[in-house]
Amino acid sequence: MEDARADFERLAGMIADARRAVVFTGAGISTESGIPDFRSPTGIWSQTTPIYYQEFLASEDARVEAWRRKLLVDRDIVDATPNRGHRAVAKLVRLGKVSSVITQNIDNLHQDSGIPKEKVIELHGNGSYAKCVACGTRYELAPIKEAFERDSVPPTCTLCGAPVKTATISFGQAMPEEEMNRAKHETLACDLFLAIGSSLVVYPAAGLPMLAKESGSTLVILNREPTDLDGIADLVINREIGPTLGGAANVN
Ligand code: NAD
Repeated sequence: MEDARADFERLAGMIADARRAVVFTGAGISTESGIPDFRSPTGIWSQTTPIYYQEFLASEDARVEAWRRKLLVDRDIVDATPNRGHRAVAKLVRLGKVSSVITQNIDNLHQDSGIPKEKVIELHGNGSYAKCVACGTRYELAPIKEAFERDSVPPTCTLCGAPVKTATISFGQAMPEEEMNRAKHETLACDLFLAIGSSLVVYPAAGLPMLAKESGSTLVILNREPTDLDGIADLVINREIGPTLGGAANVN
C-alpha cells in the first residue's frame, strides 16, 4: 500500500511539472469497465484469432464470422461505462494538463467520459458504428445487428453494394493517415507522454512512446505487466490503472 502511494505520488509530481502532456491508451484502461483486452491471459486473443482485412474483403464466410463476433463482443461493450481511469484522464484534459488523448481503443469510452471528441485521436477507429469499405458511407449498428441476427447475412452498402464493416482498423488495413499525423504532431509537441494500459506491441501505434522519448519528452508507462519499452521509460508502474491514475489525479 505504501509502495502504491509512493508510485502515484511520483506520477502526480511528474504531471504537476508537465506543461503539455499526452495520454496514450490501450485496451488495459477499459478492462475495469468490463471490456476484455487482447493480450492478457484471459484476453480476446487467448480465445480467438484475428480476421485480416484482406480475408474480410475476399470471403463471405469471413464477413459472417466478423459480424458474428461483433455481436458477441458488443454484449460487453454496449453496457460499459467509463471507469476511474477514464475519469482521471478526463479531469487532466479538463484542467488543460493533457492536450490530447491518443487511443488504440475502439470503445468510445474516452468520449463517454466527457472528453471533447476533437481531443481524442482514434488510431484504430471506432466500433460504435459501421462504414462501407468502398465509399465510406456511415451505417448505424442497431439495424445491421437486427438484420444479421435474423438472417446471418453480412451487410452491404445500399449505395454501391460493397461490404460494410465496423469503423475499426483491422489487422492488414492501412492506418488512418490524418489520425496518425495528428498523433505524431501531438507526440512531438508534448513534454510528458503517459502510455497507459497497452502491451505496446502493435505498431505503428507503439512507435509513439519511442518517438516521444527520442524527442526529449518524459515517458511514463503504466501497465499491469512489463512491456518491451520499459527500458527507455523514465517511470514504469506495474499496477492497476484505476487506483493509480485515480490516486495521482485525485479522482474517485
Ligand atoms: P493489449 O491487450 O495488447 O494490452 C493491454 C495491456 O493492458 C496488457 O499488457 C495488460 O496487462 C494491461 N492491463 C489490462 N488491464 C489492466 C488494468 N486494469 N490495469 C493495468 N494494466 C492493465 O491491448 P493494446 O496494447 O491496446 O493493443 C491491442 C489492440 O486491442 C488495439 O489495437 C485495440 O484496438 C484493441 N482492443 C481494444 C479494446 C477496447 O476498445 N476496449 C479491447 C480489446 C482490444
